[in-house]
Amino acid sequence: MLDLTYYMPTKMIYGPDCVKKNAALFPAYGKKCMIVSGKHSAKASGALDDVLAALKEYDIEWIQFDEVEQNPLLSTCKRAGDLARKESVDFIIGIGGGSPLDATKAVSVFAKHDIQDEEIYSRSYQNDHLPFLLIGTTAGTGSEVTPYAVITVDRDGRKKSVKDLFAEISFCDYRYTCSLSYDVTVATALDALSHCVEGYFCSKADTLSDLFAIQGIQLIFDVLTNAASDGSFTDKQKQKLYAASIYGGLVITKTGTSFCHSMGYFLTEEYQVAHGIACAVFMPEYLHRGFDYETKKADRLTYETDYTLGEMCSIIESFTDFQPFALPEAKRNALYELWKAADKFGSAPGEFTIEDAMEVLDRIFPIG
Ligand code: NAP
Ligand code: ZN
Repeated sequence: MLDLTYYMPTKMIYGPDCVKKNAALFPAYGKKCMIVSGKHSAKASGALDDVLAALKEYDIEWIQFDEVEQNPLLSTCKRAGDLARKESVDFIIGIGGGSPLDATKAVSVFAKHDIQDEEIYSRSYQNDHLPFLLIGTTAGTGSEVTPYAVITVDRDGRKKSVKDLFAEISFCDYRYTCSLSYDVTVATALDALSHCVEGYFCSKADTLSDLFAIQGIQLIFDVLTNAASDGSFTDKQKQKLYAASIYGGLVITKTGTSFCHSMGYFLTEEYQVAHGIACAVFMPEYLHRGFDYETKKADRLTYETDYTLGEMCSIIESFTDFQPFALPEAKRNALYELWKAADKFGSAPGEFTIEDAMEVLDRIFPIG
């Protein structure tokens, strides 16, 4: 039975040289823009040069805010937004991995609204922000096509999402990911895999998100199983990983994420574990649960991808460079309170509860 509702208003332009080939789209957004990025990736990827050439061709003035850190802080987004408002920019261009792209989304709100930092969480700003264009340089978050901005709140160091912020245009050119290091390539591939796996087995999945998820899962496992022993990926493999990351973004645009993300956040917030690795720590548990409770979907996944549950888990574990540790009881109890209040487990397979979450946590991180 066809079961499907899907909303993704972003114009996605996919393929090599898509910025250069579509430079004529830029002037529709105004005469002055702010480029939001981290310190190095915009330049290192080649994306910044392509954007600057397009802006020059159409006489568009620009300023750059290149201070976005990994796991961007709300205060950084607010600072950039205030600057954009002061400089009267018409639109924002985000270049980078998930961190600068998510920051761009929040900047687009602060640039239009002179509000306090955390007020951004108090209402939806759908279609009530400066227009923004996104150019991804990692093959992981799929933030180019999702409506989420995952921002770290300065007050408590916790990650919290702003929703309903879609880009006007997303330029997707896998060649911008070719400058990524091996470690970031692996961590971001695991993030994209987690989006596909969590979305596939969660209760919000539908016909279309399942198609995207299976495509993404297949591509990522194929690349990881054929990765060279010298720790490098070919450009063709990076092309596949980038496609998979977009599939993953399209999946979570429909389904949202599930317990690998909500449980993994504390590893990034408190132990500086890369986002994709933090999700991968919980992914084998999630897959087991999916195979236990969604048996038809599990059979379909194995049939279509040709990977068994055991094979999937061992590939993930072999790429997850992380050693679990004993968790002090006080920290465990604090997580219990945090997760109970956030109530973010509803969509995981088998009506996953906070008690189930603690059981998973205790299995991976014994109380120390
Ligand atoms: P990232 O934090 O954006 O970047 C990680 C590192 O890779 C940075 O040092 C960055 O440099 C560098 N880098 C990026 N692209 C590069 C390139 N092409 N060449 C060389 N270096 C490059 O990593 P990410 O994994 O893409 O993003 C993670 C963030 O996204 C987290 O905050 C996570 O919570 C969020 N996220 C968002 C969504 C969503 O739907 N919005 C989904 C999942 C995760 P620079 O510092 O110079 O940029
Ligand atoms: Zn993620």
